Amino acid sequence: MNVKVLVSDEKDSRKRLSVTKDFKKGEVIYKEEPVVVALDIDLQGKGTHCTHCLRVVDQDTAVKPENDRLKSVYCSKDCEAKSKAQSDNLLFGLEPVLPAELDSGLGRLTQGERDKAQTKFVSHLESQGKLAPLLVARFVARQVAIETGKMNPHKPTSSPADLHALVDGEDDYGLYDHMERLRFIEANPTEEDTKVLCDVLATALPGLDKSLEGQHSKYLGKMNYNAFGVVFENGRDDKPKTSERPEDQERTRTPYGTSRQVGSGFYAVSSYIGHSCSPSATPSFPSGTSEIAIVAARDLKEGDELTISYVDCNVNEGETSEEATRRRRYELARGWRFKCECSRCASEVTPGDNEGHLGVEADESKVDDVAVHERGEQPQPAEASWIPVGPALD
Ligand SMILES: [Zn+2]
Ligand SMILES: [Zn+2]
Repeated sequence: MNVKVLVSDEKDSRKRLSVTKDFKKGEVIYKEEPVVVALDIDLQGKGTHCTHCLRVVDQDTAVKPENDRLKSVYCSKDCEAKSKAQSDNLLFGLEPVLPAELDSGLGRLTQGERDKAQTKFVSHLESQGKLAPLLVARFVARQVAIETGKMNPHKPTSSPADLHALVDGEDDYGLYDHMERLRFIEANPTEEDTKVLCDVLATALPGLDKSLEGQHSKYLGKMNYNAFGVVFENGRDDKPKTSERPEDQERTRTPYGTSRQVGSGFYAVSSYIGHSCSPSATPSFPSGTSEIAIVAARDLKEGDELTISYVDCNVNEGETSEEATRRRRYELARGWRFKCECSRCASEVTPGDNEGHLGVEADESKVDDVAVHERGEQPQPAEASWIPVGPALD
């Protein structure tokens, strides 16, 4: 993919990406498909965008499944099939999650409870208007799809190939292993936030809710910290205004501003890209889908660090350059809990400036212990308690 992971700080094991060859300004460094995506909640019911790839759908050829709890619309049969297999059936459908040989009629017994739990989950998502809870749900479901795919060698499910390429050639590198290495800020979900999702998981597959036990806050925090805003060209300007306090608003990594996105995407490799207010690269979505392209923002030499700006770093109309600096540093502090120390900030912020409004002192993001101590030690794969114990399939 033309990039490699660097551990730049031994103390906190901060991972960064650097390029493995030279690039001219404007060249695409790599492209990456998301692990999971979520369409903005206000667009979800409108049928304007594909729920799976986020592409603008052609109304004549749109696929509109009946009785879909999320009111999903797809650009093609292919997107519908992928979405169903990766997460949609588990979270928003009623077909058995396990292959028929393992399900043995169990799936039919729980349909009523499953239906109720899913309906509750959807209305909870709609009332909150946030995407991180849906990204977490899809993430758990996708891991199940990968695991059940392994149980049934005749019907392999695709796992994100990019993961393997990047991480030390580990063979059995799963999504949870990847998740463990990412930075986050605790998200503090309410009991209700956790319960509605656990009910959906437990009614689909008894025991699956255990994979979330004690982890929900962290998983939400990882989605909040690492998800990108999917923005086509310069983005939309019709997102409904929010009345939430700035500290409660959901923010995604995008130099265009989260209000311009059509949805959020969680990317395995791109999660490692650090922030700079004068970045070396720009995220873009040239195919009109959630496939991200990382484009060189200037000429790059082999070994240069890849950075993007997580927030809008421009000086916009009606803003002085001081106001713009203040705004972007405030957004970084709100969304990612750090005081930016990039070279541009160093030149624009004087040490005497009162920055109490930022509400952060240094970098408050965290990383799991396993990721700090992983050097020389293989992380244990997360235990999947819901995997049924039985005769091996062949
Ligand atoms: Zn699509
Ligand atoms: Zn900065």
